Amino acid sequence: MDDLLARVERPSRYLGNELNSVKKDLAEVSLEVGLCYPDRYEIGMSNTGLHILYYLLNEDPEVACERVFLPGRDLEAILKEEGRPLVTLENKRPLSELDVLGIQIPHELSYANIVKTLRLGQITLWTKDRRDEEPLVLGGGPGAFGPEVVAPFYDAILLGDGEEGFGEILQVYRAWRAEGLPRAELHRRLAGVTGCYVPSLYQVSYDEEGRIEAVAPSDPAAPEMVLKAVIEDLETAYYPDTAIVPYSETVHNRLGIEVMRGCTVGCRFCQAGIIYRPLRERSPKRILDLAKCGLSSTGYEEVSLLSLDTGDYTLIDPLTKELLDQTAEQRVSLSLPSLRAGSLTDDVIQEIRRVRRTSFTIAPEAGTQRLRDVINKNISDEEIFETVDRVARGGWTSIKLYFMVGFPTETTEDLDGLVQLVLRCREIGRRHNQRFNCTASIGTLVPKPQTPFQWDPQLEWRESLRRMRYVTNQLRDKGVGAKYHDADHSWLEGVLTRADRRLAPVIADVEAAGGGFESWQDELDIELWKRVLAEHEVDPEWYLRQRDYDEVLPWDHLSARVTKKYLLNDRKKIDRMASPTTFDCRDDLCAGCAVCFDDDIRNRLAKYHPDPFGDGRKLPMALVSRVAMGHGVARQLEAAAGGSVRDQAAKAGADAMAAKLRRRRPPKPGKRRWAVTPGAPGTPGPADAFDPERLAQEPEQVLSLSEIVNPDGIDPHAELPTEAELAADLAAEDEAAEDEGAKGPPPRVAYHYRIVYQKRGDLRWLGHREVMRAIYRALIRSGLPLAYTMGFHPKPKLAFGPPLPTGSESLEEELDIWLDRELPVEEVAARLRPVFPARDGEGLLLQSVEPRLTRTSASAERMGGRWSVGLRSLGVAEAAVAEALERFAVADEHVIEVPRSKKDPRVVDLKQVVSELRLEGGCLDFTISVPERGSAKPYQVLSALLGLEERQTKQARYMMVAALRRAPAEAPA
Ligand code: SF4
Repeated sequence: MDDLLARVERPSRYLGNELNSVKKDLAEVSLEVGLCYPDRYEIGMSNTGLHILYYLLNEDPEVACERVFLPGRDLEAILKEEGRPLVTLENKRPLSELDVLGIQIPHELSYANIVKTLRLGQITLWTKDRRDEEPLVLGGGPGAFGPEVVAPFYDAILLGDGEEGFGEILQVYRAWRAEGLPRAELHRRLAGVTGCYVPSLYQVSYDEEGRIEAVAPSDPAAPEMVLKAVIEDLETAYYPDTAIVPYSETVHNRLGIEVMRGCTVGCRFCQAGIIYRPLRERSPKRILDLAKCGLSSTGYEEVSLLSLDTGDYTLIDPLTKELLDQTAEQRVSLSLPSLRAGSLTDDVIQEIRRVRRTSFTIAPEAGTQRLRDVINKNISDEEIFETVDRVARGGWTSIKLYFMVGFPTETTEDLDGLVQLVLRCREIGRRHNQRFNCTASIGTLVPKPQTPFQWDPQLEWRESLRRMRYVTNQLRDKGVGAKYHDADHSWLEGVLTRADRRLAPVIADVEAAGGGFESWQDELDIELWKRVLAEHEVDPEWYLRQRDYDEVLPWDHLSARVTKKYLLNDRKKIDRMASPTTFDCRDDLCAGCAVCFDDDIRNRLAKYHPDPFGDGRKLPMALVSRVAMGHGVARQLEAAAGGSVRDQAAKAGADAMAAKLRRRRPPKPGKRRWAVTPGAPGTPGPADAFDPERLAQEPEQVLSLSEIVNPDGIDPHAELPTEAELAADLAAEDEAAEDEGAKGPPPRVAYHYRIVYQKRGDLRWLGHREVMRAIYRALIRSGLPLAYTMGFHPKPKLAFGPPLPTGSESLEEELDIWLDRELPVEEVAARLRPVFPARDGEGLLLQSVEPRLTRTSASAERMGGRWSVGLRSLGVAEAAVAEALERFAVADEHVIEVPRSKKDPRVVDLKQVVSELRLEGGCLDFTISVPERGSAKPYQVLSALLGLEERQTKQARYMMVAALRRAPAEAPA
């Protein structure tokens, strides 16, 4: 792999030895599993499902579970050109040699990437052609509920909670392998696992117009309806108490903790809201424990509470308070990435701003109350305004609003309403802060499988663009930042999401023609897709059409346990009701979706946990007295009536809903639809409702910059200080010390230590920023009392030595740290040694810690380095190198251009900066000094000396064996 890493961008993403990754000895396991997120490392590493399954499967000593991501385009080209296979990250196993390869189906725009993974992994693409000895190719994830387009590439697809079904699948696989049976028998056995869909065991027939006539099992082992696997109780389910800490920047570089799974709000466009039902919350105690362990083992400075809508977690107020109390010392910040307007209370907002302000996004989705009723987005104008009011009052200066166009029954009034809503939000925010701004993001509805909108047409491409431009132009005219999503992406997503198996060859051909990474803004080649669709005589618009209510849909045999009848009734309400809402069942009657009526599957709310905080604390009656009646009502009906359980569930829901609507229909549209969850412990009742009159009477409050930017004077998320910032900070300290000096001895503001470490082995592929990040997290894990810079954005005082070229090892790297308290060097070293990222004598190896008496940083002292370069991998004869050295020795000058930037190369005379050349035992040693005018990197020196391209010389092994320093300046008296 080394020879490849020298030739690609960001090699650190292919290392696979990050902190907390699991690399097992393959000789000691009986099953090798690869888990693939079909995209690049920085996207896939942020996937919660992969994170859970990775640790869960590795709990089994017999299983080695390793990660797989797609390479960048540069490495992809090299693999194809040289016929080398894609490998796992940890043990670099070729995918074709694994026992099981799980490739997630995250969304429709990853379909070509799924094909790419199989092809790069050198695994037979089509299941029907796959040999017995090839890996079992397993799918899962949100795309499993409408997977027909990619179904022919999978042996099996797991619907529902992976923690529940994956283990059983591995058991079946083991038994099948032990018996040495053909692959077809494995398929038959897998069909018996709950949630396991085996596409090859289903026959699809079509009518004359191309619509699906039936999807029927072709083997008695396959059930007519595949029901998803469900974890009944998340509280007792497995969840890792640590996380892999990537070296490089990823989409979500923080500790994510899933606080709940499922959502019962019932937005009609939302697939996740259906497929993850029922709602299951973890107790605050469990979440706090996970956060404590996770933070101490990773050094992350941010915790993210993950779910479809964390603001609706029933104990969100006390949870956020406790979490921030628990982590205050480490300056950990909290993010709630997914919030529904109306679910935010003042307390949560205050808690979030205690450490750091994260950005706020709310999604009204539609501009008018009428249209929000159509999509069952159960928030009123008042709740949106109330949220904006709270956010602005909390010190935020902007809010992002997300909308979609193309909902059924949408009219121009709704689009105008959207514009008015955004302007009104800005107006409300500006009552607190004149600089308050809103930004609006507009997308297009893509009707998804398993939702009440699955029968509806998608807007035609041009009309979608027209509507998005209609609102964004108006908003921009009024000075609001507005942008719309790329219509091509939505169009392609729409074509693929409700398509069937007949499109699989299209995906395969698009990938073969260079497609892939369609979800990346700059990678989608829409003309390629249109061309391939045309070559296959597929009319893409046909897949965007309206479906008849009685049409067989390609995913009808796959059930999220929510009945099709429920979805249909929910959709039909729009046609027959003026206010067609369906209520949220989490704290009220059952709406009859029927997910809850098998085994003990039901909504589980944290507030009904017998001891949610694990300390015997009682929650206020106001919080827990609202009894979830749905299950009781439905179960009674189930006992009393005949018919199938699912029909009864649907009937129970329909009856309950009718009764509820009769009782609770709001007096007029726009009023609050349901009572908000009453206040949590310490907050006696519901938060104040938004009151425009009260707001109008309130004096305008303009917050000071410090209140807005940094209420507590801390920003742990900040970048590390630059040399200049650090110098300014230290100078300010000196000044303060001098002022104090007139009165007495100057106070030591911070204690300065010099740390020397080595960079060895694979971690030579880390870039300078990646080394900085890895060491910063190690310092946090050490618990040392780091000193912070002064000013609005305090940053930990750290100063690194000059950057080492990526790909080079070093025996002498330096770092300066400043502590708030003076500690013996032995203690500093003892705390740092176990947390530095090192393993088996490789990595970042701590060498020494010493107190510094000078202000000069390691970087300012560095004058250059002594290098040793292993030449074997270059394949150059030693005699030729010796000749080159002789030529260099007698030359008066040897000038090269060193690219500082593409437009501005710097000219360096190597005779001035390179000295003490010595060739011995296949190694070339030399010293490079770094004068102020600039110098050259070792591989540039080698290229110039030997007349080789840098692409070649980068493949040599470089080691900086000693640093050259100028004498440190004396410490101030
Ligand atoms: S079955 Fe009833 S209580 Fe359960 S999630 Fe569906 S609507 Fe809610």
